[in-house]
Amino acid sequence: MALNENQNNIVPKTHPRYQSLKFRHKIIDGMKNLVVAEAGLIAHGRGECFDYIIGEKTTKTAKYAIRAAVAALLIAEKPVISVNGNVAALVPNELVTLSKLLNIPLEINLFYYKEGRIRAIKDVLKKAGATDIKGINEEKMIELEGLESNRRKVDFIAKADVVMVPLEDGDRTEALKKLNKKVIAVDLNPLSRTALWADITIVDNIIRVIPKMIEIANQLKKLNDSELNDILNNFDNKLNIQNTLDLIIDHIEKQKVEAFKILK
Ligand code: ATP
Repeated sequence: MALNENQNNIVPKTHPRYQSLKFRHKIIDGMKNLVVAEAGLIAHGRGECFDYIIGEKTTKTAKYAIRAAVAALLIAEKPVISVNGNVAALVPNELVTLSKLLNIPLEINLFYYKEGRIRAIKDVLKKAGATDIKGINEEKMIELEGLESNRRKVDFIAKADVVMVPLEDGDRTEALKKLNKKVIAVDLNPLSRTALWADITIVDNIIRVIPKMIEIANQLKKLNDSELNDILNNFDNKLNIQNTLDLIIDHIEKQKVEAFKILK
């Protein structure tokens, strides 16, 4: 029996942490299928920790950032969404829906290379309906300047003006910025280098972000470029991250009192 089935039998739907455990097992299954790197499990755990302290919900500040991100993707001339193993394991169908809705290619870009991983991720995306997948043809790849890691090998990202980088490492965000690209990051850690380097930082869980982006994209597609530019110009990323940190502090302050009530 597949691990997935096993684990789903173990975790009943009534379990108070069912959602969190469900996605944890998607990551574990992804690792067994080569989609997720071993280090991806640790990255997921770090994300879970930050999710806890934002209250496991999409905050007001995350919604502002999502709106600005969708506006930026709609205005962009050559946008692209970078995909790593964790994202492919967690939200493949939603990612493909967003990519089709905005007419944006998905580019597989990995920090940890392993024989067969690109193919495994490509298969997951194809199964979810993706038709435009970049980063799978070694001959088309070029190397980004100023980057030593495997992530330096890119395809469409080299030409892109706006790059969305869910669950990224700070080095590549910095390299992309130095190449004058607009970077949209999705990172639960508001203080990671990625979060601080990006132009638009969505501090939220990717499992909630992509469905929310689909919802907002359906609304913003009706706007013209001038209205989309207004949304972008009214967004201040530094202020939004600072407000996110204030929300976290407020949430923890409330938990200081509320957390003990559930024990009674
Ligand atoms: P940086 O180099 O930007 O400082 P890092 O080294 O702290 O990043 P990595 O281990 O490269 O982080 O990547 C994991 C990041 O992804 C963490 O900041 C973690 O909070 C975030 N993360 C993990 N899972 C999710 C998720 N499901 N949704 C959003 N962010 C996530």
